Amino acid sequence: MVYLKGVTAYGFKSFADKTNVTFVRGLTAIVGPNGSGKSNITDAIRWVLGEQSAKNLRGARMEDVIFSGALNRQPLNYAEVTLKLDNELKLIDSDPEIEVTRRLYRSGESEYFLNKNKVRLKDITDLFLDTGLGKEAFSIISQGKVDEILNAKAEDRRHLIEEAAGVLKYKKRKKETEAK
Ligand code: ATP
Ligand code: MG
Repeated sequence: MVYLKGVTAYGFKSFADKTNVTFVRGLTAIVGPNGSGKSNITDAIRWVLGEQSAKNLRGARMEDVIFSGALNRQPLNYAEVTLKLDNELKLIDSDPEIEVTRRLYRSGESEYFLNKNKVRLKDITDLFLDTGLGKEAFSIISQGKVDEILNAKAEDRRHLIEEAAGVLKYKKRKKETEAK
């Protein structure tokens, strides 16, 4: 399982100022009053992992993730979130740490970076496949997700178990080989 060391957000939802959240090993609890931005942190994590549905991020359009202004604060032009991950599974190279960044401008232009190098969304999705940290993975259980899993079709539930067991990578490779 990939270990998430921290999240840095700028211009994402309520985080108008650059905000750093560090996760120590063990249990981290985020507490705060209603509307203070607790769920926005998990939204930020899911967003970097490639979430493409504004609805899953509790918005109407993807642009809604960009800070829209507040009392005495102008709206911002882009949102940027970086995840800092431990690389002990050696997902890429032998760097001790991996940084994954997603940026979105109001124009709709979207960018992804891996250790500051521009990459495609697919590179990020592939990287996290079977690590337990994909956007569809079991590591982020949002409100209502438990019910959804219990009520899911057998095939969808199987998908989740396969991701957890780490076999999706092989299924995907098999499919790619068969397509050649
Ligand atoms: P609860 O305890 O009710 O679950 P929470 O701490 O999880 O609350 P969030 O849902 O994370 O709160 O944060 C909601 C806040 O984020 C609201 O005040 C909302 O106005 C603000 N917010 C969401 N999107 C944006 C945006 N694009 N620009 C500015 N503020 C935003
Ligand atoms: Mg919440």
